[in-house]
Amino acid sequence: MPQTQTTVDIQFKDGRKSKAIATGNDAAWICFCGRAEPLLGRSGSTKGVSDGFRIDCPDCGRRYFVVPDGKDQGAVLKVIEVD
Ligand SMILES: [Zn+2]
Repeated sequence: MPQTQTTVDIQFKDGRKSKAIATGNDAAWICFCGRAEPLLGRSGSTKGVSDGFRIDCPDCGRRYFVVPDGKDQGAVLKVIEVD
């Protein structure tokens, strides 16, 4: 069976939203800075962002977290930009 491509929200700190693509607990998105290559990350803990699961943009340093749906490392619920 193919991996289902799911569209989820990404929420930037300034309140803007865009779309990310997810398959299972992996997500890919285009950084706010417009870096050509997408960022790619997997979902973390339901407790919130932790170092091992934070995704930092190599170009601009913005930080992101992939929020799991209901359980640690679960399916992707959404992507958020974090402090
Ligand atoms: Zn960036």
